[in-house]
Amino acid sequence: RLFNEVQELKGNIRVYCRARPFLPKQTGKQSCLEYIGENGEIIISNPSKPGKDGQRMFKFNKVYGPVATQVEVFSDIQPLVRSVLDGYCVCIFAYGQTGSGKTYTMSGPNGAGEEDWGVNLRALHDLFNISQKRSSSINYEIGVQMVEIYNEQVRDLLSSDANGVAVPDASMHPVRSTKDVTELIDIGLKNRAVGATALNERSSRSHSVVTIHVRGIDLKSSSPLHGNLHLVDLAGSERVDRSEVTGDRLREAQYINKSLSALGDVIFALAQKSSHVPYRNSKLTQLLQSSLGGRAKTLMFVQLNPDVNSFSESLSTLKFAERVS
Ligand code: ADP
Ligand code: MG
Repeated sequence: RLFNEVQELKGNIRVYCRARPFLPKQTGKQSCLEYIGENGEIIISNPSKPGKDGQRMFKFNKVYGPVATQVEVFSDIQPLVRSVLDGYCVCIFAYGQTGSGKTYTMSGPNGAGEEDWGVNLRALHDLFNISQKRSSSINYEIGVQMVEIYNEQVRDLLSSDANGVAVPDASMHPVRSTKDVTELIDIGLKNRAVGATALNERSSRSHSVVTIHVRGIDLKSSSPLHGNLHLVDLAGSERVDRSEVTGDRLREAQYINKSLSALGDVIFALAQKSSHVPYRNSKLTQLLQSSLGGRAKTLMFVQLNPDVNSFSESLSTLKFAERVS
């Protein structure tokens, strides 16, 4: 049955575009985006080229405008998340320039209450609930890992002494309740903040990967299943030439460019059903290799800041997304 479902899927890659609203302190700002939500279409307008000539339309599987809620977004991806309990591997990425809402989508705003929770906590909650509902037929175990990739080095965010690990070796933490999860994620976020400076937050220059492992044993047939969900808050995609950086900043920016284009190349190759998929070009794609391609499913949230001043960044974000969709 699972096999047939996989066959029926047209492709295993989907791209959802989400533009954040203007923030309360940004009153009077002009937007360069128009949404034709229902059809998954979005129009971007070049502020220095008024009229039709300066407009471009992009089409994705879905487009969320500024009023879309966290609840709405999660309800659209819920089936994908739940497929992990049937033994699928799923990767969900958030891509976009710093300030475009990647962390908001994945984790929610700082100190978020339940209403504002992002994909990460909603997914964990949902997986717990459903696994408990199925507990008379399948015995599930759920574990969590959390790593950060910074300058092509992997750091375990849930262990104080594990630097330079690969994801399979990162510490695995069994979770039995949402309280366990919230505590773990708090530890991870605290560890991630280490090294942050007031000027330029480190979290925007590293990729964070939360992995939820699910193991199940069918109580009747004793057959095992193993699925996992990778939730990836990518480093900011802004191009380096704009900020004219040097030294450490330049090095960071080069690592980020390299790994984001490696990710784009992998997803592009998968979307094209190419026989060669270039996983080896970055730590990120190496880590996720077994969960990208094959029967794994990939969802990319493409995040946009609507401000006209972000026009050129938004355009290059949309082009990246168009290429992989
Ligand atoms: P990024 O992680 O891409 O750098 P953030 O997620 O930190 O961006 O978002 C930047 C700011 O915009 C934050 O203050 C965040 O709370 C706010 N924000 C982002 N998306 C939304 C949204 N959909 N609704 C309301 N506020 C948002
Ligand atoms: Mg962020």
